[in-house]
Amino acid sequence: MSDPATLAEAVPQAAEHFDVIIVGAGMSGIGGAYHLAKRGGGMRFVVLEAQDSFGGTWITHRYPGLRSDSDLYTYGYSFKPWTGAPIATAGEILNYMAEVVEENDLSQHIRYRHKINAATWSSERNLWTLRAIRTDTGEEVWFTTGFLWMCQGYYRHGEGYTPDWPGMDRFQGQVVHTEAWPADLDYRDRKVVVIGSGATAATLIPAIAGECAHVAMLQRSPTYFRTGRNAIEIADELRELGIQESWIHEIVRRKIQSEQAKFARRAFSEPEAVKQELLSQARSYLGPDYDLETHFTPRYRPWRQRIAFIPDGDLFRVIRDGKASVVTDEIETFTETGIRLKSGGHLEADIIVAATGFHLNVLGDIAFAVDGEPLRFSESVTYRGMMFTGVPNLVWIFGYFRASWTLRVDIVSDFVCRLLDHMRETGARKVTVALRPEDEGMPLLPWVDPDNFNPGYVTRGLHLLPKRGNKPEWQHTHDHWADLKAFPGIDLRDPTFVYA
Ligand SMILES: Cc1cc2nc3c(=O)[nH]c(=O)nc-3n(C[C@H](O)[C@H](O)[C@H](O)COP(=O)(O)OP(=O)(O)OC[C@H]3O[C@@H](n4cnc5c(N)ncnc54)[C@H](O)[C@@H]3O)c2cc1C
Repeated sequence: MSDPATLAEAVPQAAEHFDVIIVGAGMSGIGGAYHLAKRGGGMRFVVLEAQDSFGGTWITHRYPGLRSDSDLYTYGYSFKPWTGAPIATAGEILNYMAEVVEENDLSQHIRYRHKINAATWSSERNLWTLRAIRTDTGEEVWFTTGFLWMCQGYYRHGEGYTPDWPGMDRFQGQVVHTEAWPADLDYRDRKVVVIGSGATAATLIPAIAGECAHVAMLQRSPTYFRTGRNAIEIADELRELGIQESWIHEIVRRKIQSEQAKFARRAFSEPEAVKQELLSQARSYLGPDYDLETHFTPRYRPWRQRIAFIPDGDLFRVIRDGKASVVTDEIETFTETGIRLKSGGHLEADIIVAATGFHLNVLGDIAFAVDGEPLRFSESVTYRGMMFTGVPNLVWIFGYFRASWTLRVDIVSDFVCRLLDHMRETGARKVTVALRPEDEGMPLLPWVDPDNFNPGYVTRGLHLLPKRGNKPEWQHTHDHWADLKAFPGIDLRDPTFVYA
């Protein structure tokens, strides 16, 4: 196999050329393909996807109960109304995506079972050369493109993060990770321990609790949850009035975004009040005698980690009904029959589920090189969380931590279409972002401020991510409202953009 640094020299003739290549057919890649098809002015583009189908996150996860924890009015695209209940199952999200693909004839642009493993930029040719492996035949295939649009998500598919707990090999039952859920896992009448208490645990547990002998959610420390009906009143009312779905979609999106922005602001300005509101929701399901302090009162202030939404309080209900329980403790060791806790207790288990998150995956595990030099992505500085100093003709969609991921798909897609238009009009074949003289001496900081947002996968992978500066243009602010205002006004002739 050739070294990625010399890939461009290795096989240029056999490569198929596209104006734009999108990597990944998840929510980001399908959204990007829609925008390019509509606004790309006839550009030739292709979406290369390692899996057998579109969907990304929603096909690679298979655990019971898999659902969104965002509402689909904002998790759905701006251009395609969502007409169902706001919290949706993976199946419903996939159906929605299937409609987007079908209605816009996007299949012609997608090649499945193509896993890209190397990409190199040549400034001499102003081209990216990509090497992909056909996952069905093992064949190596080559592509060149003028513009690489990375929609590969942010975590490694197929292999979750499982800490190395002491004594794991002693355990006689089954250990599974939610990201690699065996299709034939029989949990009926079994004692199950789920390690972790994030959104994944919160969706899995209510889905299986009715069939298991018992499910214990084992957490080292508590998490905040929000509950509410899985319905949006104003959407239902507008529907009763016969208002057309595209209007309802837009109105509900704006309402939700405004409420979310208020909530996020309040989490900073009056964290104690927000905390008490969240706890009282839990209390209303779990009753006055439940030990909320131990099990549902986090040590951090609300919003430092994403707050999972529990529709109709389903997690709290199975706890209240005794089908599930919460154990807040630390693992001393796995034993033959379960988990011994640091407090001295023992949790009996037939199956132990690790709902412990994922491996942050920067740029899709692709070996990148720029002009013969391996790309050290962590040494670059990000322009608004989507472009990177020293990396020409490449945009990455990295969604929001606190708002729906897809809100950013539409915003970044609009930017990419504008940028490509601008390059076409001016005849530029290369664009790179670069710090301007006034940025000299700007402190270069980690991708996110760990004091602001610090879930495990981000903290573990922070060293892999590009740096941010202390100005809004040199960071992913994760502020959707600010992006909404700033992105359409980005001046493509600003010296930040260096063309050739
Ligand atoms: C269980 C779960 C629930 C979630 N729920 C929500 C939610 O409710 N709201 C929210 O906002 N976010 C949620 N997220 C975050 C979620 O990942 C994003 O919302 C969104 O799905 C990301 O879409 P994406 O297309 O950018 O990436 P992904 O969904 O990760 O898709 C990336 C695609 O790129 C492909 N790919 C990667 N590398 C390569 C390569 N080298 N070659 C070819 N193809 C490649 C992958 O196979 C995959 O299909 C959730 C995440 C998980 C894991």
